[in-house]
Amino acid sequence: MAGQVPGGDSHAVGRIGELLRTHGLRRTVPRIAVLVAIEPIKGHLSVADIHQRLLEATADDAHAPDLATVYRTVTTLVEHGVLHALTVESGTTTYGLAKDAHHHAVCTRCGDVIEIPASRLARALRNARAASSFALSDEAGLTLHGLCPRCQNAQ
Ligand SMILES: [Zn+2]
Ligand SMILES: [Zn+2]
Repeated sequence: MAGQVPGGDSHAVGRIGELLRTHGLRRTVPRIAVLVAIEPIKGHLSVADIHQRLLEATADDAHAPDLATVYRTVTTLVEHGVLHALTVESGTTTYGLAKDAHHHAVCTRCGDVIEIPASRLARALRNARAASSFALSDEAGLTLHGLCPRCQNAQ
C-alpha cells in the first residue's frame, strides 16, 4: 500500500495504519495520505494546505485525493477522535493529531499553528488555574499568539 500513498514511506504508513486501527477505522489511501501529511509537522494544517501537500507529494496529480475527498476524510478523522480542529482568527479551520495533550501557538502573520506539549505548559496552567479559579485541564487547550520562526526571519 505504501506505493499508492502520496509521500508515504513504509514506516509512516505502518504507524498510521495502526493508529487508524485503534480508532476502529479502516485503512484507506486518503486517510493514510492525510495523516502522512499532518504527522511530521507537529502542528495543524487547513484542508487546502493538506491538499496542496498531497499534490506536491504525488508525481501524477491524478493519484492525489481531490479537495472534496480531503475534506470528507478530515471530517471522518475528527469524528473518530484521530484529529481535532482548531479555528484560527482568520476563520480558517485547521486540523492536527488529537493524541498527546497539547496547546497551540498560532502565528499572527501567516496563521501557522504549532503544537506545544501540555507538559511544557503545566506550570503556566497551574498558575492560570490559581489566578482565575477556572477549572483548566491539560486538554483545555491554551492558544498562544506570536510570530512563527519563518515570519520572525522575514522581519
Ligand atoms: Zn492540536
Ligand atoms: Zn508565521
